[in-house]
Amino acid sequence: MPQLIQRTELKSFYYTPVHCPFCGERVMGADPVDETRITACPHTLFIAHDTAFEYRSTRLDANLQLEGLSEREVEARWRADKQGIDGFTDKVRLADAIKVAAYAPAPSAYGSYYGFAPTE
Ligand SMILES: [Zn+2]
Repeated sequence: MPQLIQRTELKSFYYTPVHCPFCGERVMGADPVDETRITACPHTLFIAHDTAFEYRSTRLDANLQLEGLSEREVEARWRADKQGIDGFTDKVRLADAIKVAAYAPAPSAYGSYYGFAPTE
């Protein structure tokens, strides 16, 4: 069975742009006109925050058995997990997958999560 995703937490760099560790593509905030635009590269597994997925790749859906589910069903799935999107995405099993977690400054502590894995 492939290893669990490796989780890396950025301590104080919520506003640091996140780039794919495999190709260097900036996956969010690269568009100066629309900083919320997602520019997922082929290695991006998911982009999420504490209340929703912003982006899910087909590899993520296959890995976490989310294929064919509606957005509402996906949300019910991770909420049922009781560990939030952060805990839910910790269950990804893919060789050399990496997850970056970044938090807004306290007291909000709002989290953003980025998952990447090499392409086969
Ligand atoms: Zn990439």
